[in-house]
Amino acid sequence: MTRIFNDPADFADEALAGFCDAHSDLVRQVEGGAVRRNRPATPKVAVITGGGSGHYPAFAGIIGPGFADGAVVGNIFTSPSTQQAYSVAKAANSGAGVVFTYGNYAGDVLNFGMASERLNAEGIAAENVLVTDDIASASTSEIEKRRGIAGDFTVFKVMGAAAEAGLDLASVVRVGRKANEQTRTIGTAFGGCTFPGAEQPLFRLPEGHMGLGLGIHGEPGLFDTELPSAVELGTELVRRVLEEAPAEHAGRIAVILNGLGSTKLEELFVLWRTVAPLLRDAGYTLVMPEVGELVTSLDMAGVSLTVTWLDEELEQYWTAPALTPAYRRGMVGFEVTPAGELASDEAYDGAADYSSTAESHEYAAQCLAALDTTAALLRASEAMLGDMDAIAGDGDHGRGMVRGSAAALAAATAAYSAGAGAGSVLIAGGDAWADKAGGTSGVLWGAGLRAFGERLGDTDIPTADDLAGAVRAFASRITDLGKAEIGDKTMVDSLLPFAGSFTSAVAAGSAVEEAWASAAATSAEAAAATAELRPLKGRARPLAEKSIGTPDPGATSLAMVFAAVGPHFTAVPVAAAASN
Ligand code: ADP
Ligand code: MG
Repeated sequence: MTRIFNDPADFADEALAGFCDAHSDLVRQVEGGAVRRNRPATPKVAVITGGGSGHYPAFAGIIGPGFADGAVVGNIFTSPSTQQAYSVAKAANSGAGVVFTYGNYAGDVLNFGMASERLNAEGIAAENVLVTDDIASASTSEIEKRRGIAGDFTVFKVMGAAAEAGLDLASVVRVGRKANEQTRTIGTAFGGCTFPGAEQPLFRLPEGHMGLGLGIHGEPGLFDTELPSAVELGTELVRRVLEEAPAEHAGRIAVILNGLGSTKLEELFVLWRTVAPLLRDAGYTLVMPEVGELVTSLDMAGVSLTVTWLDEELEQYWTAPALTPAYRRGMVGFEVTPAGELASDEAYDGAADYSSTAESHEYAAQCLAALDTTAALLRASEAMLGDMDAIAGDGDHGRGMVRGSAAALAAATAAYSAGAGAGSVLIAGGDAWADKAGGTSGVLWGAGLRAFGERLGDTDIPTADDLAGAVRAFASRITDLGKAEIGDKTMVDSLLPFAGSFTSAVAAGSAVEEAWASAAATSAEAAAATAELRPLKGRARPLAEKSIGTPDPGATSLAMVFAAVGPHFTAVPVAAAASN
């Protein structure tokens, strides 16, 4: 239970502000997150971690000499936006390039990836290192699909030390990927965590049970078992991790016994009493093991065991000194200079110069009404969509869609007032959606809306064919970015049927509003039918079995929104234009 908050929606922002104040000797708040207080004396690779909030000390707590240069801080359990990642990277870059490192979650992969593209295009070399340590989240044959949990900490630590030692960007990336390849984690949950302001935890376990294979976003374990004794639990965790020991190793390991938020440190020490001897009996030397809270999940009760098989290089960086708000090791004599000027943050150009024909500006009013309807509908559906996402995902879909659509409406309204045409109004809306929603669905909706707007343009009132083209542009952008296919149990499952049905009905000469309405009905059926599917993409994938029987939240919200906005997009003058 989280008890200290004001408006729950502001929790992550307020926590970040308080953290930056309390640790102002080491960190500095910037747009999108935080960076080191002091710039390095000479250019060095900037290691930037990130992801959603709720995992403290991950990720801002490990900013400082020897560790991270910056952290991009999203809303609770929600990927930060592309703009946030870009902005933190600009502030942290000291001239030797940046590397984003984060757990393998679709929203993070998309947003950090898009920020990297933008940085590279500007001449700032940017790379990405994904952490995939969670044994339970996929089999070894699909190891690249595994998610990142407490192993984040080892990988980030090693990369931070390598960058501090002066390695170049390619070498820091190489060391990070090696650390990730050598790292395995298995976790177990005893109880779910509760969002600030929520009455119920994201999941509950039956009395006396635990969930093996926890996620760090309040995802329940992959299988429930009866709660064992500490010795049995320790034995099971060690057995599962050592099952994946590399064929060849030097017998030296970094170990983390990590508490998830409300498990007492004393409990961890009791468990350690089993874990450490078992690892030693297996022939390992434990190098600077950590028992504590390093990657948490709000107030979740649970524990995870991480092992990193070290070679000489990894050991050197694992044991190197570090000085951060949440984690200190060894003697740190880093050379620093006073804070430089903040790199200018490229903000949205609110005062953009719009040129639009009168017709397109008129149609823009209908687009604005569509966004207004969307925002109202999603506000009313927030809890329903959140509950649906909590079954196998992380419960944030409702919140993300509300934040995104509200931001889109505000930005689109501003653009409209500045004289924008339909295309620019939707582009402004899409960019704001992507920036403020967070999460996978936020990036995809934002990018899709932008593509829709680009297709409409600021000159003509769309014909029915134009509208079908815009819907297809929306769909293509989403499949290009997210790479999901029909049947993967994502929003694509209700989107492509909509686009297909609308396109063929228009081509067959149906009246545009009827074509839209029947496409919406097809889309709603397709969304409902996702209940029977196993998720193959996104955060719900590791919990595929639990998801069966529940429709995909993203497919559901998409079908709802498309049904609701039809009358706005298809109202005269579109119909008139189409029949010309
Ligand atoms: P997150 O998964 O980051 O928590 P949300 O909860 O807001 O983001 O959105 C979840 C929805 O995103 C899923 O229900 C699914 O429809 C959609 N989704 C996830 N991954 C993809 C993908 N690769 N392509 C298309 N849609 C996706
Ligand atoms: Mg989610």
